[in-house]
Amino acid sequence: MKPETIAIHAGNHVDNTSKAVIQPIVLSTTFERAEDGSFPGGHIYSRSSNPNRALLENVLAKLEGGADAAAFSSGNAAGMSVFQSLAPGTHIIAPDDMYHGLRNQLKKLFNGILKFDFIDVNNIDEVNKHLMPSTGLIWLETPSNPLLKVTDIKNVVALAHKRSIRVAVDNTFATPMCQQPLALGADLVMHSSTKYFGGHSDLMGGALITAKKDEWWEKIRDVQGYGGAIPSPMDCYMLVRSIKTLPYRMRGHVHNAQLLAQYLEKHPKVEAVMYPGLTSHPQHNIAKQQMIKFGAMLSFTLKGGEDEARRVINGFKLFTRATSLGGVESLVEHRATVEGPDTNTPFNLLRVSVGLEHIDDLIADLEEALG
Ligand SMILES: *Cc1c(COP(=O)(O)O)cnc(C)c1O
Repeated sequence: MKPETIAIHAGNHVDNTSKAVIQPIVLSTTFERAEDGSFPGGHIYSRSSNPNRALLENVLAKLEGGADAAAFSSGNAAGMSVFQSLAPGTHIIAPDDMYHGLRNQLKKLFNGILKFDFIDVNNIDEVNKHLMPSTGLIWLETPSNPLLKVTDIKNVVALAHKRSIRVAVDNTFATPMCQQPLALGADLVMHSSTKYFGGHSDLMGGALITAKKDEWWEKIRDVQGYGGAIPSPMDCYMLVRSIKTLPYRMRGHVHNAQLLAQYLEKHPKVEAVMYPGLTSHPQHNIAKQQMIKFGAMLSFTLKGGEDEARRVINGFKLFTRATSLGGVESLVEHRATVEGPDTNTPFNLLRVSVGLEHIDDLIADLEEALG
């Protein structure tokens, strides 16, 4: 089946008892045993599984083309479960512009437990140089946040799999509508479903999708089962509801982002635009090969430096000054401020989450803000 059909049907089935067309929200934490001690409904206790979560995990696995999925209470909880599943002393290679929340998680919570190097993963010589006998995981994030760098997933997978190293990809910026890392050879996909999956900036969630139901996956499931980083039935319900429109929302997001990037590129006050769909993007050819669509996140730098970036961000009327991304409304943020003192992000950079408003209104607002 095609993604549009999967998105609508794989997270829902008609309820057997009430015949409700939409799966009811099951708040019960516990499920009745049959006389023989079995659980005919397939659920025992809601930390282990719940009907709403099971349907969400089904649609997530199918959209990414994986063997199984696990839904979490946030993107960071999903990442944390991956790191907790690794044997102590395991070495991780991660991008130097890894999402700052997960980079800080590694630095603050796993220091002394795991080893890690944050490097330019687009430079294969650098990756080779940092490999250790204990390297167990290469973490990728492509397109990256906030520089929109694109990493050749197949290339990294080829190098990693020769040495039995796993590859995990944070696919939050792309969504499975724009990029399918498992089809490119990755072992695991991670999402902050707070972003495009939720799509309306009103819920937190995370997800992991695995290529194989192997020993590593069992370990990740154990970490979640014993650790308890699970989403509520209500959040699972809302995610299933939002995912039904994900394929169509992404078409609109990407359409607007491409036009906005092209507009910005021609603007005299703009220094550079970072968007994988522009032919000027340094990895545009890789993006063209590995992405289905180019996503809807973009960043741009201003010729006038930090002061000019701060002036422009305060001039918007339609774009809201806020962090996060993936909602129907357009957002803009001064990323270096959000990332804090250890940021590598240029101070004249603004990051934009392109929403679903009409493109003419978005361009008019941008024109006014740039002045
Ligand atoms: C937001 C985000 C995360 C973290 O997800 P939360 O749901 O906020 O915990 C991880 N990676 C990327 C790329 C993100 O944008």
